Formats: sequence, C-alpha cells, structure tokens
Amino acid sequence: MRKKYDYLIVGSGLFGSVFAHEATLRGKKCLVLERRDHVGGNIYCEEIEGVTVHRYGAHIFHTANRRVWKYVNDLAEFNRFTNSPIANYKGEIYNMPFNMNTFSKLWGVVTPDEAREKIEAQRGVVTGEPKNLEEQAIRLVGTDIYAKLIKGYTEKQWGRPCTELPAFIIKRLPVRYTYDNNYFNDPYQGIPVNGYNEIIDKLLDGIEVRTDVDYLANRAAYDALAEKVVYTGTIDSYFDYKCGELEYRSLRFETEVLDTPNYQGVAVVNYTDRETPYTRIIEHKHFAFGQQEKTVITREYPAVWQQGMEAYYPVNNEKNSALYQQYKALADAEPNVIFGGRLAEYKYYDMDKVIEAALSAVEKEFAE
Ligand code: FAD
Repeated sequence: MRKKYDYLIVGSGLFGSVFAHEATLRGKKCLVLERRDHVGGNIYCEEIEGVTVHRYGAHIFHTANRRVWKYVNDLAEFNRFTNSPIANYKGEIYNMPFNMNTFSKLWGVVTPDEAREKIEAQRGVVTGEPKNLEEQAIRLVGTDIYAKLIKGYTEKQWGRPCTELPAFIIKRLPVRYTYDNNYFNDPYQGIPVNGYNEIIDKLLDGIEVRTDVDYLANRAAYDALAEKVVYTGTIDSYFDYKCGELEYRSLRFETEVLDTPNYQGVAVVNYTDRETPYTRIIEHKHFAFGQQEKTVITREYPAVWQQGMEAYYPVNNEKNSALYQQYKALADAEPNVIFGGRLAEYKYYDMDKVIEAALSAVEKEFAE
C-alpha cells in the first residue's frame, strides 16, 4: 500500500523548501517537518520596529547563475543593495574588500602601480612555504593589511592566535586594484524588498508544514508516513553520531533597538581589532534603504560550538573532512533518503548554491 506522502522533507530551509516546491509542482505530496518554531532555516527574518531583521546573521543574495537569479526574482522582488562593508580598526575606517580606496587610506597612494609596489615589498617578508595563517596572509597581502584588517578579526573568529592557525584557512584574499567597494564579483546581487520570508512562504504555499517537530525524536513514526525522505539536518545526528561528532563554529547575536535613525551609515561594519569582543555590527535597515525613526543593530560574537547550539560554519580540517567522508559513505548506502543542504553535506553553501543544489537534486530525482 502506498504511504500517505511521497516525500517527507526534514528542514524548511532553502534546500528543503525548494525541493518541496518542485516536487509539489510535479504532482507529489509532501510533508515538511521543521524543528524550529518558524520556517526558512537561517534566512528567516523578523520585523522589529518596522525593520526587517535577519535573525541568523546578515544574508545578502548574490549569484553568477542567471537561472537561480530568475528563480528567486520570480518569487520576490529584489532591491539594488550592493554589499560595501566597512572595516573599523580602532576608529580608523577602511573600505572592504581590499581595493584602491583601502590602499589610498592606508598609504596615501593614488595609482594602482603605487599600491602594487607597496604590497609586493611587504609580501616579501615571508619566504618559503607559509607555516601558519599569519605567514599565509602576509604572503598574500603584506604586513599592513594583515596587521590592521586581518589579524584581530581572524583571531576573534577562531579564538586562537594567527600563528597557531593553519595556513589553509585562508586560500585567497581578494585584492582589487580599482576603486570598487562592491564586496562581491557576481553580476547579480540584492535583498528581497519584503525580506526572505516571502520566498519561503511562496515555496511552501499549499504544502503541509509542521513546525516545532524534531524528526529524529520520532523517526520511525515519520518514516512510516512517506515513501522517501529528504533530510537537511546534520548528517552525524542522522546516524546517531556513530562515527563521531562533526565540529562547527557558532555565533552569538545580540540585537538592540536604538533611538536614532542612522547608527553607522552602512549595513555591515567589521571590527578588525583584537580588543572589541564582537566581529561585526549589522544595521539591518540599510539592507532596504530604510527611513524608519529608530534603528535595529545586531552585534555578532564568535562562539565556541557545543552540542545543542546552532551549527553555523563547518570546520573543514582534515579530521572533520575524513569523518564527513565516513558519513557520506553511509548516506550513499541509505535507501530512499536524499541528503542535501549545508548541514547534511557538511559544507558552507551560499544561498544561490543551495538553490542550485536543490534544483539539481530535483532534476536527478525526477529524471525520466
Ligand atoms: P538551513 O537554512 O540551516 O535549513 C535547515 C533546516 O533544517 C533548519 O531550519 C533546521 O532547523 C532544520 N532541521 C535540522 N534538523 C532537523 C530535524 N531533526 N528535524 C526537523 N528539522 C530539522 N548565504 C548567502 O548567499 N549570502 C549571505 O550573505 C549569507 N550569509 C550567511 C551568514 C551566516 C551567519 C550563515 C551561517 C550563513 C550565511 N549564508 C549566506 C548561507 C545561507 O544561510 C545558507 O546557504 C542557507 O541557509 C542554507 O539552507 P539549508 O536549507 O541548507 O540550511
């Protein structure tokens, strides 16, 4: 006898919601389970004082994929927001990513050749294979940028001195010899005018969703309801941690309403000194060019991840990558379960990439 649902979708983030939507369009019956008290995973937004607040950290949509850009624009209207963050080093303000505006402020240089000369001279301080993150960063961008814009921020993020961090954490550092403060290179970028919830709500429109439900707490009962499972939770928890626990980095967010219309003049400020305990302040209204009387800011603090906390970034070192491969082998052998998204694939995924991955999974699943 066929079960009540074709697909049980565990997790209502972008991966689960895109899959559920596409499967429903193909005539399949889906049930979405979500552990949190809201849908949308990490792109969830809430309204505070009329300002759309990104509850799980600043989310800026950017992509080079026209198909994905069209896909999201069919679901929501996007504004012209361009991410141009500022770095604050002990009160000195620098443009990001590292570009001619940054170099001009640092050294008074005017032309790209002058800037290149400065960086080249400083990079030479490290010879041979970089032994740690400090050497790697200096090798890439020289001593001044490292000292003012990389060292403190990175040490706060990882809770360890850069000399004790492996070089592989930083593979490339974008250096731009133009006066261009646009953080991303992608041709398409913006923020949904009505926030990200509209995208998720449209994807899940007409689909049965149950929030505050942990699939793993009652797995057998839920499996009995559906022919197949799409699982977007952590892969190690799915297998009851039988090979060991994967590690993550976490974040703590402190959100405050301020009685001023404009606190920092830009959406994102990175605090790159070691002493300021937070890494960034987000002023949410600037994502939408908001004119509200008050403003809402969120301070972002790096946090050591422990079981039970939100898992934000995978720690892709050798130990965790090897462990993930063991779980991946188990997942590949699991009948009738599709594993997808950032937690099930133990991978940092931007939003566009996770949509791309979900659409690929759909194509594979429904290939004739
Ligand atoms: P998630 O959104 O995490 O969804 C998974 C869902 O599954 C969650 O809602 C979870 O509660 C649920 N779940 C897990 N286990 C269970 C269970 N057992 N039972 C029921 N439900 C379960 N991307 C960009 O493109 N631009 C950005 O600027 C950007 N900024 C980011 C900032 C931060 C701080 C972080 C962490 C990520 C950022 N991203 C950004 C990435 C973006 O958040 C992800 O691409 C996207 O959220 C991934 O969607 P997902 O469906 O894979 O995972």
